[in-house]
Parts: sequence; structure tokens; C-alpha cells
Amino acid sequence: MFRTKDRFTMPMPDDFHAHLRQGEGLSAYVRGHAGQFGRVLLMPNTLPPVSSVPQLEAYRAEIERALEALPDNERFEPLFSFKILPGMRGTEVEALARAGTVAGKYYPSGATTNAADGPHSFDEVEEVLDAMEAQGLVLCIHGEAPEAPVLERERAFLPGVERLLIRHPKLRIVLEHLSDARSVQFVADGPENLAATITAHHLLFTIDDMIGNSMNPHLYCKPVLKFARDRDALRDAVLSGSKKFFFGSDSAPHPCEKKECGASASGVYSSPSALPALVGLFDSLGGLDALIPFMTEHGAAFYGLPHASRTLTLERSPWEVPKRIAGVVPMCAGQTLEWRVACD
Ligand SMILES: [Zn+2]
Repeated sequence: MFRTKDRFTMPMPDDFHAHLRQGEGLSAYVRGHAGQFGRVLLMPNTLPPVSSVPQLEAYRAEIERALEALPDNERFEPLFSFKILPGMRGTEVEALARAGTVAGKYYPSGATTNAADGPHSFDEVEEVLDAMEAQGLVLCIHGEAPEAPVLERERAFLPGVERLLIRHPKLRIVLEHLSDARSVQFVADGPENLAATITAHHLLFTIDDMIGNSMNPHLYCKPVLKFARDRDALRDAVLSGSKKFFFGSDSAPHPCEKKECGASASGVYSSPSALPALVGLFDSLGGLDALIPFMTEHGAAFYGLPHASRTLTLERSPWEVPKRIAGVVPMCAGQTLEWRVACD
């Protein structure tokens, strides 16, 4: 691949975990990914959730309308998932697979935004998991045990995943947005059908960036940012070149007033700055050779999707991330990033 110190071309990255929301914000939020990502896996925790074929079709139509407003070369391919709910039948899963979803998302009840209706255990949705395994759908998991202390929630969830792997040996499972060194090790040691997404914010920041000096609600997310050792384990996972780890931004915009208030919503709006920020980070670590497959190959291979058909060029050309975009404070707001996506 052509590369100089200040400019290089790479396959178009994919984002295997994003929230584009619905209604008014959606048309603005698709712009965060526009021109930077080839495929984006959309999370189903809208209101109402994407849990049936009619809901999927309605959401797909809404997404397509928003994408049509973008210039041709900035459009991305949306990939759809459905939200697993207690009481869902295997036949509904089969219908969702036929309708084109690639994954089902498991949110433990109460774990994050719009998750109150989620299952309390995998046992509660055994029929769904059987059908997903038979259909070859990927199970995406928000792996946090809501009853555990907040910094221990991800680790506390791992024994349940271990049991799941034994009971469903053919089910492809993605632990989403890893944040803890112990889960990095768990995924690395696990079978081939277990993989994980890693976000930009968990690679860039620690809990001290969020609450060390003053409190920055714009870095408050679930799972919460952890310690430097956890961030470093995530960086090492990317640098290792292991195909089990791939990029999922978990970009989750909330209007400023929902973040700067007495009960901040969780989520980092990272899509506008994630790619250039990660290129800057991994360039400084001497790790661009590992970052590129992490963002462009491993996820597609795990999901069984074709190689990226488009490319994108990055150039070293400092720019300041806007302090607000469409009423949301983006990741790295007001900071100068070294790299940007080149216009040509
Ligand atoms: Zn998410």
C-alpha cells in the first residue's frame, strides 16, 4: 500500500457498532460516518426497538432516506441488527434473518440506554439463541452485569459468556466495546467463534480523563472508561494483529443538554473524529500496520462480508475538531488532530 510519512491510502474502514438514532437527529448523525466508513452496523436500541420485520423495514427506510441526502461518494452501506427481547420466538428470528439482518444484540436488562426491556439471562432467550446459531447470525453482546459495581460489571459478565460458548459452540459471538484488560485476555484465549469490538474512546482515554480533575460528561459511556492498564491491554490487542479484535465505534450521540445535566446520559459521539484520532495514536505508537486491518479486514472476515471495495486517503494536516456538531459535543472537541481524511 502506498504510504509516505504524511499521506497514505487504505481500504475504506468498517464500523461494526454505531448508534445513528432516529427522527430529527438521524440526518445529522449519518454525516458523522459519511465519507469515512464503508459499512456501518447499526444498533437496534431505538424507541421502539428494532425487534420485528416491520420495525426493521421502517428503520431501514428512515436510514435510506437520510443516506440519500449525502453525496454518492460519502454514502455508506448500513448493516442491520435486531434487539433480542424476552418472549421472542425462533420463527421471528428466522424472519429477521430473511429480511437481511446480520446480527442480534443482547442487552442485559438495565445495562445501558433504552435497555430496560432486555432479558435478565441468556436462559430467558434460549430459543432465540438456538435460531441465531442455526441461521448463522452473529450475537452481539453488551457484556456488563448490571448488578455488579460499575468498574467490575464487564468482568462479572464473563462467566455467563463462558457458559454460553459451551452451550452454543457454533454461534459467532462478539463482545462489544471491550474496556477491561481481563476481558481482552478472555477473548484472546477463547475459541475462534468469539471476537470483540474495541472503540476509539477506550483506546484513547482512561477514567482519569473523565473524572480525574474535573468531570467530563462527554466521555461518560457504558462500559465506563477504566485504568491505564486496561487501555494499554486494548492497544496491545490491536497491535497484536489478532483477527479476533476489530473496530466498532459505539458512537452514541446525545444532545448537549442530555449530557450536561444532573443525570448525564451515557455515550460518546465519536464518529466525526474516531478515524483521524486513531490514525494519530497508532502512528505515534508505530502501529499503523496493525491499525489498518483492525479497521478494514478483521470485522468483515468475522461477519463473512466481502473485502472493502473502496479506498480512502489520510493526510497529515492538522485540524481542530469542532466544539459542537449538530448540538452534540463530539469526541476530542476543540482538540487539534494531526491527521484528516483527504478530500481527493
Ligand atoms: Zn452501543
